[in-house]
Amino acid sequence: MTTDIRKLLKDPSLFKEEAFINGKWVKSSSGKTFPINNPANNEIIAQVANLDAADADKAIAAANAAFPKWKSITGKERAGLMRKWFDLILQNKDDLAILMTLEQGKPLTESAGEVVYGASFIEWYAEEAKRVSGTIPTTIWGDKRFMVLKQPVGVCVAITPWNFPNAMITRKIAPAMAAGCTIVIKPAEQTPLSALALAELAIRAGIPEGVMNIVTADADQSIAIGKTLCASPVVRHLSFTGSTEVGRILMSQCAPTVKKLGLELGGHAPFIVFEDADIDAAVTGAIASKYRNSGQTCVCANRIYVHKKVHDAFVEKFSKAVQTIKVGNGMDAGVSQGPLIDHAALEKVERHIADALSKGAKLVTGGKPSPLGGTFYEPTILANVTSNMLITYEETFGPVAPIIPFESDDEVVELANNSQYGLASYFYSRDIGRIWKVAEALEYGMVGVNSGILANEVVPFGGVKQSGLGREGSVFGMDEYLELKYVCITL
Ligand code: NAP
Repeated sequence: MTTDIRKLLKDPSLFKEEAFINGKWVKSSSGKTFPINNPANNEIIAQVANLDAADADKAIAAANAAFPKWKSITGKERAGLMRKWFDLILQNKDDLAILMTLEQGKPLTESAGEVVYGASFIEWYAEEAKRVSGTIPTTIWGDKRFMVLKQPVGVCVAITPWNFPNAMITRKIAPAMAAGCTIVIKPAEQTPLSALALAELAIRAGIPEGVMNIVTADADQSIAIGKTLCASPVVRHLSFTGSTEVGRILMSQCAPTVKKLGLELGGHAPFIVFEDADIDAAVTGAIASKYRNSGQTCVCANRIYVHKKVHDAFVEKFSKAVQTIKVGNGMDAGVSQGPLIDHAALEKVERHIADALSKGAKLVTGGKPSPLGGTFYEPTILANVTSNMLITYEETFGPVAPIIPFESDDEVVELANNSQYGLASYFYSRDIGRIWKVAEALEYGMVGVNSGILANEVVPFGGVKQSGLGREGSVFGMDEYLELKYVCITL
């Protein structure tokens, strides 16, 4: 271990290597740990407790024991504790960003942005905790009255990915806590440090023991832990963000206990540039949507459809903009694209590019690993892409923009909708009639019109088709963690 993370932090006690169960820092019962790798230089930066299924059971028991008290304090009291947690996260933003960049690789400015974005869910749902209200339907039976109550679901589980190590956790835990639920979190193998630092701040905010538990594990143990969490009859809700493939497994594992499910799965976003688009704005939007987090986001543009009339102008400007992206270690100033998470990710990018080139795509820029080595890859643009190429239907999760020319609105909407996924979509146009029609016709949970960035805490995030079930963020995100109870009273 060469980098001493503690020396990089203003508050070294935010660096944790133990798991967090029932308000205490714990080792795995086997005593085993697993290494955390910095994807920028392949250094082992931490050895984190490698929990197993029996440890996961202890976390479920802790969450279950904490539930009666947490649900019975008022929403206002929960809001106060969550607000303190939110303040502490913002006060420690720089340290949280350093931990994230070291374990995940994204540039420090992006990490700081994610910490603020992640915290916004805690602030928003702290406010919402005070506003959970049922309804009183007007009676149609004269001797009876009706009430509909909203009550917390119970013990919840969150399984989260490595690409947003902070926000994918807060987007789940904040509505769950606000609703009065307790929660067990299983962060991704590659990025547990951000999750553990959030737990340390939760203790300081006074969040009671057992309300939030973090089970850290490597990929092998994650499978066994996943089975335990899904099989437990105590767990009433599972929220998963990750691949569609794993989402399907978890959904089937939850079937025997009929859990409520929230699934935020893969995406394959179309990004359409119509002939009346503001080309400069479309270039800016495409850069933000495609290359953020080295192209490792579920809402990344994965197919860029450009009308034939503006194709060449767009490609020229887009290519110039892409060539200004600075690849490097996310800890270095001025870097706008970090490494890919691991070698498997790099191999997938190379496979998509090789497949496209072998079927007639043209390389506009990039197309090879960066001279920096490791898992750094040059930001890439491919033109002349056609629908038979892998990149048009498999999630790339890398910095590759495939450009596909089109001629009519009907044609491009059909192409855009021809996907098993339905998470984010984008298009650029200045024609209000076209904006309405295309926004309505796209089979996606989210549509960015003249905008390459979509997500924030006040709007519902989520997909249709095999991109998932349910929504996170906004008032709708809270409903995922509440059950309706109908009460009928005879007078
Ligand atoms: P992943 O391989 O599906 O893993 C996600 C999480 O599931 C990790 O914590 C992983 O643990 C765990 N896991 C894997 N197999 C499991 C099993 N059999 N049982 C229980 N847990 C299991 O996804 P990823 O590679 O981390 O993330 C990339 C994917 O997430 C992409 O498809 C992306 O589109 C999607 N994503 C979606 C959204 C959204 O909001 N829709 C947001 C971000 C990412 P280990 O790490 O220990 O294996």
